[in-house]
Amino acid sequence: MKKNNSKDKSLQSSAARRAFLKGAAATAGIMTLGGRLPGAEAAEVLWKNPRRVQRAAASQLDSGVRVTHSVCLGCNARCGNRIVVKDGILESISGNPYHPYNSQAEPVPYSMPVAETLSRSSSVCGKAIDAPNYVYNPYRLLKPLKRAGKRGAGKFEPIEWEQLIREVTHGGRLFAHLGETGEIEGLKALDSDEPIEPKAPELGSKRNGFVMITGRLQTGRKAIIDRFVKAAMGSVNRIGHTDICGLGFRMGNFALTDQEQVELKADPWGAEYILAFGANIYEAGQPGVNTYGAAVAKRNSAGKVKFAIVDPRAQNASVHAEDWVPIKPGQDGAFAMGLIRWIIENKAYNREYLTAPNPEAAGAKDYACYANATHLVIDDPAHPNNGKFLRLSDIVSADSAGETFVVLADKDGLPTAYDQVNEAVLDREQRCRMRLAKISG
Ligand code: SF4
Repeated sequence: MKKNNSKDKSLQSSAARRAFLKGAAATAGIMTLGGRLPGAEAAEVLWKNPRRVQRAAASQLDSGVRVTHSVCLGCNARCGNRIVVKDGILESISGNPYHPYNSQAEPVPYSMPVAETLSRSSSVCGKAIDAPNYVYNPYRLLKPLKRAGKRGAGKFEPIEWEQLIREVTHGGRLFAHLGETGEIEGLKALDSDEPIEPKAPELGSKRNGFVMITGRLQTGRKAIIDRFVKAAMGSVNRIGHTDICGLGFRMGNFALTDQEQVELKADPWGAEYILAFGANIYEAGQPGVNTYGAAVAKRNSAGKVKFAIVDPRAQNASVHAEDWVPIKPGQDGAFAMGLIRWIIENKAYNREYLTAPNPEAAGAKDYACYANATHLVIDDPAHPNNGKFLRLSDIVSADSAGETFVVLADKDGLPTAYDQVNEAVLDREQRCRMRLAKISG
């Protein structure tokens, strides 16, 4: 990835656009106020159209209308949103131009008065726009439901929260009124320091029988759930969404970066080619459709980034993809290894980039980051660090050896600290027995 491609120029050229929009906003405001719709009738027309509400926000016609800025929790992206509330009723949702996720990473400054931002286009996804239908859906569950018929009969009745808490806590013959005599254990039965399984003390006490699997742990939720599961119930078993869904991706990054990073993603503003395995880059690549998806789609239409989709399902981005590989579930790993093999055998890699072994060397070639492709790896089953990158401390005992990686210098093929050379050997196959007599510096 070349440095000078790291930011799409078209995304930086918004100053003129802002000036244009500002002019457009002023014109729209004049037109709305100039219409002089009479009180109630005007409000009726206006509140049905959020943009007209926003344009009229400075007028007298907006009494009862509030425009509020907040954050959408419709998914884990956490975009900003701008909410129109009329007489206490949520009317509509649009993007929040102060939030980077709604403005393709170019938010307006907080110092900009709200009135100046009202006619700015700022996007949210369809799920966020649909929020009023969640809130006011007549079928929305507002109370707990208890089974009111045989299992599988699909019959339920609403109960009060107090009843739910009492029955879940204490248990008992909870379905006796349906003719079922079975005793159901309540959470109280887990309030015990007895081992959950005497033959397997490593499983801990009966308290660990309480398992809570949560959704996304947005800010604040984790603290209160931990208070309940760990502090109150005494269980270790609070399982989060990321413990299942994102674990593979994060562990791969963790291993790749020598345990330094978990959140590596293709750079939507700098990448020239994105290979997406099962990632919905138009809909769900964090930070969300309004940022990641919009940036990739915009740069793709400008010919600046290509991508291929590996997914059994033809996702939305497939229509813009160079290729869609409808992989069979479970075969992604084999496919990836095949790609890597083909790239190596056909020397289809970027040698210039891969041979720069440190940030300075990569920077000198105008790359935004460096690769560790030339860093030597220990290939000795008898070595305690077998399979890991070779460090100076693995081959010398001097205190100053440290955790520095080792490469073969391109000019003489000698083992050298990775930050001491600009060019390193990429693909020589040799076994070396190394003994450094002296470490300088
Ligand atoms: S992507 Fe959509 S649902 Fe998710 S936070 Fe953003 S606006 Fe809300």
